[in-house]
Formats: sequence, structure tokens, C-alpha cells
Amino acid sequence: MPRPAFLVAGLAALIALAVSRRAADGATAGYRAPGATAPTATRTADSIATRLKIGWRAAGSRQGLLSIGGLPPVPGTLSIAGGSLIFQPAEGDAAIAYPLYRVQVDGGRAVRHSSVTLLGVDPGARDSIFLFHLDGGVLETATPGVLRDVVTGAPRLDSLGDAWATNRFALVDPADTAAQLETLQARAATTFADSMFRLFGTPSRPLGLVGDRGQRAGRLGEYIASRDSISLSPSRMTQAAQLRHALAHELAHRWQKAMPGEFRTLWEGVGPIEDSLRYGFGNEQEHQAEAVAFAVHFLQTTAAPDLPTDAALDLLQAYERLVPGTRVMARRLVAQPLYRYHPLASTLLAPARSVAARGDEHAENVDVF
Ligand SMILES: [Zn+2]
Repeated sequence: MPRPAFLVAGLAALIALAVSRRAADGATAGYRAPGATAPTATRTADSIATRLKIGWRAAGSRQGLLSIGGLPPVPGTLSIAGGSLIFQPAEGDAAIAYPLYRVQVDGGRAVRHSSVTLLGVDPGARDSIFLFHLDGGVLETATPGVLRDVVTGAPRLDSLGDAWATNRFALVDPADTAAQLETLQARAATTFADSMFRLFGTPSRPLGLVGDRGQRAGRLGEYIASRDSISLSPSRMTQAAQLRHALAHELAHRWQKAMPGEFRTLWEGVGPIEDSLRYGFGNEQEHQAEAVAFAVHFLQTTAAPDLPTDAALDLLQAYERLVPGTRVMARRLVAQPLYRYHPLASTLLAPARSVAARGDEHAENVDVF
């Protein structure tokens, strides 16, 4: 799993600047349905249900779903400070700033160029959803506000204050191999990893570090089929969420290898990724692994028992806009014993018509992708 293309610029430099020895988030729980009396949500049920109920699309609010560095989208609030967009994730994490413009010297004069592009508009059933590329993220929002002007208008850019970006720090010191291995061992011992191994099987070897060659190729993770082993590269990551995502992605390759025929069947009718900067674009194998990792994230996120089904399916559509095939993989995964008591199990497993029809209705409306 090479890093997403749009993270390439600047991230390595940021990582080199300072290093956090913060351990990977061993506290994040996995899904623990079988044998339990009730599904165990990854976080508190209230906050998940509330944030989706009042919603990232609530009228009049500045809400969005942000896919940071190629990861599955997370909800949060949007604001503008100076020449930057500030995204405050709904759940705990620190705010992230994205510069709205970059400055280039043109004929001896400093000229501001927008660093936001409009990827597409999905008219949807209730309101239009705008998709924007930021410098290192993709934002889905029904309340684009100033972003619409920023995309098109130099005059608007000139009226903004200074643009700035938040620093991102490596999870582990790239020079400290022992600390990297420690991080992986801690990761392998989490309930999340246990859940992943139950879904996709446990590789023959313990999690290892991506070797020099893979590092040079910019890989965040590797699955070596001949050795049935998974390697990850925590020192090239800035968020624990990347580590979880990379584990799910690499295990998805293991799953692909185990059942190629079923993957072919599952994939019938799934459209391509249209965003050329998203990982998996133009590469079906990688696209499938991303869809599996997105589906895992969706099922973990929606494990709250009191989550309204409509809100959950709305969220699923947001994933599907970024990585088509998330829906079919979520349906496939929720049929596994691990997710037997997942609150969406019966909805997702209902005859394809009810779930697919909803998706198709949206898909037909997508105009720019
Ligand atoms: Zn891959």
C-alpha cells in the first residue's frame, strides 16, 4: 500500500521535522460481537449516534466529512481562520488546518492560486453534496460556504488572511527500529487487530516492518503472499488511524488471495474510482483492498446500537462516493460471524434491492465524477 499520491508532497519533510513517540492507540477497541450480550461499540454510543443524527449535513451548520490522507471519511465542523480551512473532527482529535491558497511569484509579483479544487457535486435526494480536494484531504459537505468562491475566484482569495497548515508528526521515530517494532507489537495485541484476524485470518508470521526496498518505494504496508506476512511502516504514518487502515488493507490482500473467485463475483457492477489522486485509482486489486478497508471502518464506526439506519446508510453513501465497492464489501463482511450482532446486519443483508436501490438512486445523480 503506497502512500496516497496527494500526501507525497511535504509529508516526508514534516515527518523529518519532529517525531512523536506517542504509542499507537492501543485504547481503540475493536468490534466484539460474538459471545457478547450486546455489540461493543468502538466509542461511546451517544457521541456516534448524536453526531450522525444531528448530522454532518444538518441545515445551516458547517459540517463535513473529511477523508484525511486517503483514509475513510470522518465527520467534523468547518470554519475559516485567515486563509485556511479549519476542520475540527467530531471525535477528540486536534483540529487540522488546510491552506486555501498557495503563493507563486508571477512576473515579479506574488500571486495567490487556489489550493482547493471541486471534484464533483452529488445532487442527492435532500441536498447537494460538494466534494473538494484540499491539500492532503477530500472534503464532502453540503455547506461549502466560502470554498465555492475560493475554487473559482482570485478576488476572493486576495481578501483572505494568511494561509497556514498544521504540522503533522510521525507516529514513531524513523531512526528507532525498536520503537517501531514495539508499536507494531502493541498494535497486534489490540482488540481491533484481533477482530481483523478473525475476519481475514491470521498471517503465518508476526507483523513486521517494511524493508528498505519497500520504504524506498514509499510503501506504508506490504502483504507478501509467498511468506504470508504483513509488514507496516509506522514511521511513515502520522495517525494511528493510518496504522489500523493499513492493517485492514493488507489483510484484504490476504483475503483476495484466498478467494479470487468470490472477489470477481462481488466486484461485478462496481464502478471505478474516479478521483485520480485516490489510492486504488486505475488498479483493481488495490481498489478492492481499499474498499475492504473502507468497509471495515464503516462497520466499526456504525457499531453504535442506537444509530438511525437512515443516517448510517447516508454515511455509507459518503464512503461509496470516495471508494466505490465499499457497500458490497460491507455487505460481505457483515455476514461474517464477527458482525452477527452489528446493528446494521439485517439492513445490509436484506435482499439487495432495498440497499442497492437507495445507492443507485444517488449514483445516477452524480454528475461530475
Ligand atoms: Zn495494497
